[in-house]
Amino acid sequence: MPSNQPQTIYLSDYKVPAYLVDTADLRFELFEDGARVHSTLAFRRNPDCQESQETGAPLQLHGDSLKLESLVLNGEAVATSNYSVSDELLTVNQVPQHFTLQVVTWIEPQNNTRLEGLYKSAAMFCTQCEAEGFRCITYFPDRPDVMARFSTRIEADKTAYPVLLSNGNPVEQGDLSDGRHFVTWEDPFPKPAYLFALVAGDLLEKQDSFTTMSGRKVDLRMYVEPRNSEKCEYALDSLKRAMAWDEQTYGREYDLDIFMIVAVDDFNMGAMENKGLNIFNSSCVLASQETATDMAFERIESIVAHEYFHNWSGNRVTCRDWFQLSLKEGFTVFRDTQFSGDMGSATVKRIESATVLRTAQFAEDAGPMAHSVRPASYMEITNFYTLTIYVKGAEVVRMIHTLLGPDLFRKGSDLYFERHDGQAVTTDDFVKAMEDASGRDLGQFRLWYEQAGTPQLAISDEYDESAGVYHLHIKQTLPDTPGQTDKQPQHIPFALGLLGSRGEALALALSAEELAKADAPQERVLELTEASHSFEFHGLSERPVPSLLRHFSAPVRVSYPWTREQLLFLMNHDSDGFNRWDAGQRLAIDVIQQMIGAPKDVTVDARLVGAFRHLISDADLDQALVAKMLVLPTVAYLAELTDGADVPAIHRARRRVLKHLAIALRDELVACYRRNIDSGPYQLGPEAVARRSLRNTALAWLLLINDEEGRSLGLGQYRDADNMTDRMGALKAFVNSGYDDDRAASLNDFYQTFQHDPQVVEQWFSVQAASRRTGQLSHIHALLEHPAFDWKNPNKIRAVIGAFAGQNLVNFHNPDGSGYQFLADQVCKLDDSNPQIAARLVSPLTRWRKFAPEYSQQMQAALMQIRDKENLSGDLYEVVYKSLAD
Ligand SMILES: [Zn+2]
Repeated sequence: MPSNQPQTIYLSDYKVPAYLVDTADLRFELFEDGARVHSTLAFRRNPDCQESQETGAPLQLHGDSLKLESLVLNGEAVATSNYSVSDELLTVNQVPQHFTLQVVTWIEPQNNTRLEGLYKSAAMFCTQCEAEGFRCITYFPDRPDVMARFSTRIEADKTAYPVLLSNGNPVEQGDLSDGRHFVTWEDPFPKPAYLFALVAGDLLEKQDSFTTMSGRKVDLRMYVEPRNSEKCEYALDSLKRAMAWDEQTYGREYDLDIFMIVAVDDFNMGAMENKGLNIFNSSCVLASQETATDMAFERIESIVAHEYFHNWSGNRVTCRDWFQLSLKEGFTVFRDTQFSGDMGSATVKRIESATVLRTAQFAEDAGPMAHSVRPASYMEITNFYTLTIYVKGAEVVRMIHTLLGPDLFRKGSDLYFERHDGQAVTTDDFVKAMEDASGRDLGQFRLWYEQAGTPQLAISDEYDESAGVYHLHIKQTLPDTPGQTDKQPQHIPFALGLLGSRGEALALALSAEELAKADAPQERVLELTEASHSFEFHGLSERPVPSLLRHFSAPVRVSYPWTREQLLFLMNHDSDGFNRWDAGQRLAIDVIQQMIGAPKDVTVDARLVGAFRHLISDADLDQALVAKMLVLPTVAYLAELTDGADVPAIHRARRRVLKHLAIALRDELVACYRRNIDSGPYQLGPEAVARRSLRNTALAWLLLINDEEGRSLGLGQYRDADNMTDRMGALKAFVNSGYDDDRAASLNDFYQTFQHDPQVVEQWFSVQAASRRTGQLSHIHALLEHPAFDWKNPNKIRAVIGAFAGQNLVNFHNPDGSGYQFLADQVCKLDDSNPQIAARLVSPLTRWRKFAPEYSQQMQAALMQIRDKENLSGDLYEVVYKSLAD
């Protein structure tokens, strides 16, 4: 066991801060060989902290990798006997009731490869302070419940860093000697240190504006490197849409005079909602028709909105402690998915959310790092920026929305913002506001925040012909997770409908009385609160087909003995688009699972072919939904559904089904491709996106079976493409095809064309790393040696190593264990420079218990090798030890 084992931090140990900071006045002197940070902090004892009031507790400030240059209290240097400095804390023993502390620290942003705190990305300075990065800048009570009013003066060379940005509004600027200059920013809103931001660089400014609902004009500014000047428009438009939507939907107005977005190439996360100064990973904000796919545009719109929405759900009302992370993330993800649904298709958005949840979050719930939406303990908070906190957290808020209905939910959110504006609060405060506004008791519902794991609903039914009654039985169980057993039933909103034999919606009368009134609804949300429920539906003259868990109304697994006939029926007739898609997925899963290890003479069910033929051929169907329905369940999801998974066998079975479909539907695919060719100019509306998606799916299938007509269509599409979706669609199809020369030629041409654009080169890396054909380990090593690869850039690391281990499952799970060994080696290498990224990349190994013994043993061995690395970081320690624990 290494000596640097990180401590476990428990929610139950929470104590209010002993000291509060009213104002934090910062002065940064930025140089090429480091930065000097002068901080003047106005402290007072916290009236809510008894210990501090009575005995005058010592002042403890967090600090990490800092060089303390001076420490002055109320104008006098603090005697060395009155303070001590450790790796993590600065402790001042005797302090008065009120005092001003002046701290000067020296830091080295140019050597900061962890990308936490203040660091250099290419030629610019930038920050990332969530969760605990501010302590890498200066000594401070770096916890979200200490909120101060910040002012920030930045001094730097004027030629190299003409743009100097921080939170709030600019109040002063001027020139200094030696070619330097300064700008001072003041943020009138008290905020925790994690929302602090600073940017300095030679950046191009793009301006826009937005007039709020009360008529205030807000300056919108986007700062990018000059080469990206044509890639800002979409983000700025998305921002304005988000600002208007938040006013209309939540009544929330922006509060500063200026709102800024900065794009940074080297960034651990997607983006960060610093007050008034959002910092984005370039890949999540820069886009043009030529360089970004439809999916990238969609992601940008949702991330820009997400970070903007945080201004209320996160910044104005923030988290008391990091156990409450989902307070801001769950609610804000819910808000951004609502927004995306409103901007495009709500059904398609729901399918996308559910896909992430079922493929990856359910896997997290079933793995060694399983934790509740509000965890009870952690070692490194950076390991808890998880799908459970974000997307399951959003599902929990969504269920409250479903239970309360939109009007009461809005009343609840109004009350929450009003009651807690300017405070640091808990998930419980959020639920309480929803209860108080609606009069609903959400006591049992709170278990969603406390209990980890994915609830499982086992459903059975029978039909009593003589009484005309349909019985539906639902049993709820919640599996054990590390540290949690014997869990309580949760409060689950379960939406359903029943279909008659002609596909018509049937009235859902839960009793004879309801039946007599003849006004029963055709869809209901049943509330499950017990371990088992039985429901009766009256007045049915035939056995209905149930449409279960409509809209995916809760993040649960459902098992029901569907027949293939029922699934085909739901695919064609269900009025709920989500369940039509889901029925198709379940049918495809059933067919693929039947093919795993099946002898050659077993054929693919002709009914699946028929169903797909109908989807591809019928142009009257909702084409955006069809585009989603044509995507077969991924290998990752199929593996998630299987205990003792043999990934290569799953991959072969899926491929066999896919090829069978492509051969059987070859003519329909060509027709679908031709029907969806765009003749007019490029558009980004949902219809155009659906057309491109269908065309690219058809092309991919045709090239999978080496179809010559498909090949010529693909070559033409690649050559003539006026947008990245089409170009990338053709490139991907060739990369995954048997046309070796075309693959090499198009990859080469693509690189030559876009080599000067890092975001596009990332796509070029990942399309190769994720492919069965080009993602062989020898080629992955070659990509790591490529001149465009950069070990300091998280996007490049994710594009090669992340895509290989996370998407190229058939090569990652090579039976010889080489994929596991490769990942272990890279994770160990990265742990020394960027432990946060290393701890995220290791994730595919952590689920080793899931796989067949010949795989799991080798995965476990790879994890042990990481465990035994010298100087293992705390980040990696937590993930690896928890994964190996019994
Ligand atoms: Zn967020």
